Amino acid sequence: MEQCKPKKFQIAILGGGITGSSIFHILSKYTNIDSIALIEKDGKLGEINSKENNNSQTLHFGDIEANYSVEKALSSKEASQMVVRYLERLGEDGAGIYKKSHKMLLAVGKKEIAEFEKRQNEFEKIFPNFKKITREEIAEIEPGIVNGRKKSEKIMAGYSKDGFTVDFGALAKNLATEAKKIKAGAKIFVDTKVIKIIEKEDGFKITTNKETFFAKAVVVAMCSHSLMFAKELGYGKEYSILPVGGNFYTSSRKVLNGKVYTMQSGKLPFAGVHGDPNVHNENETRFGPTANVMPFLERNNIATFGDFFKSTLCDKKSAIALLKVLSENTLLTFLLKNLIYEIPYFGPRAYAKMCQKIIPTLKYSDFKNSKTKAGIRPQLINNQTQKLQMGEIEIEGKNILFNITPSPGATACIKNAAKTVNKIIAFFDGKYSFNKEAFEKDFQ
Ligand SMILES: Cc1cc2nc3c(=O)[nH]c(=O)nc-3n(C[C@H](O)[C@H](O)[C@H](O)COP(=O)(O)OP(=O)(O)OC[C@H]3O[C@@H](n4cnc5c(N)ncnc54)[C@H](O)[C@@H]3O)c2cc1C
Repeated sequence: MEQCKPKKFQIAILGGGITGSSIFHILSKYTNIDSIALIEKDGKLGEINSKENNNSQTLHFGDIEANYSVEKALSSKEASQMVVRYLERLGEDGAGIYKKSHKMLLAVGKKEIAEFEKRQNEFEKIFPNFKKITREEIAEIEPGIVNGRKKSEKIMAGYSKDGFTVDFGALAKNLATEAKKIKAGAKIFVDTKVIKIIEKEDGFKITTNKETFFAKAVVVAMCSHSLMFAKELGYGKEYSILPVGGNFYTSSRKVLNGKVYTMQSGKLPFAGVHGDPNVHNENETRFGPTANVMPFLERNNIATFGDFFKSTLCDKKSAIALLKVLSENTLLTFLLKNLIYEIPYFGPRAYAKMCQKIIPTLKYSDFKNSKTKAGIRPQLINNQTQKLQMGEIEIEGKNILFNITPSPGATACIKNAAKTVNKIIAFFDGKYSFNKEAFEKDFQ
């Protein structure tokens, strides 16, 4: 297609999920940069991994996430508080975006209880409102956990009143819409798929399926797809991606009143099975997600096999690192176990049985419409160490940044956006500034 004169911007943010929308918001509200484009391939913002069906809708504080280290919990606590500050300012507009509820970390059996108590000694210093509770207290708050459970099966839990269930897709839309209201030069382009980013002397030419753009600085916020674009421009060679999909199962019988997470090994970047009331229907409880490796960068989009190939399989070092990670014992056992849940007929029934760890009376017949597909978690692999890299990263290039955001990327949206904005400001050598005072007043 013949493309006419490029649309010019100081900054182009490519990808309008919760990451791109948060960066767009902070740039618009707290900096004096006057022209910013947010470019999204779908018809609406926040419809891929940030969409409510595709993730667990949890604002991760770090208290109920048993696989988090102390360091990670401290970082998550700070990040989640920033989102809380934003959500609480929304007033009535927040009704379609988030719900507050209690949350628990459940330990079942002697071994898990011992691990929980050891962890709790450290974690209650970080989270003073996160209290240890007994079987009797659990029964009062979440009767479904205790009903039908053998007396001989010991349980204990960590409990907090301060849980948040968030529709991160709706939050992305809100953040971006608010940004547009604040700054006339902040523009959103949907249905606009980035095809290529070409580095020029004074910026970047961005070709899309529609018009062409030109920006002095670029942030690629396309989750898994960011690595592919980074590699095309010669960056990020030290990383590859293990794409992990999975499913959620929804019980149409109300079995929980708040979020309930379970104990999980710190060696894995995945939370153990958890039950979460749906943000838009508290009478439904979602269980999951299961975890299955799949060779795609986007769920329901097999065309993204080619993108996975470009980002990971096409160079020897990345492919070897991927194989090495997949052959690691703890991960392999975890993934093989999850494969069982994919077996037709038997799999979902086996999963319902596994969820009885949380709700002993849960049956397969409680699940409505079988499973719903979750998004893809782009677990990063460090090609040097040939190990999984926990959490999100930002690859830095010359006047360009690439964000890759596995869980808890949605929770970290504001904290990461502030870091990104600081780097963008530095690209412009003092021409623009970040009003940190105003930002901190709003978010800290
Ligand atoms: C199963 C699962 C459970 C999770 N649970 C949680 C949780 O409970 N809490 C939490 O904090 N995090 C959770 N996460 C992680 C969280 O969902 C992600 O970190 C977050 O949504 C990433 O946001 P993003 O904006 O970076 O990516 P996305 O939301 O995927 O947005 C990327 C955007 O880029 C666009 N894009 C891609 N290619 C192009 C292109 N060529 N041109 C233009 N646009 C393009 C896409 O259309 C998309 O809108 C979970 C993830 C999964 C998969």
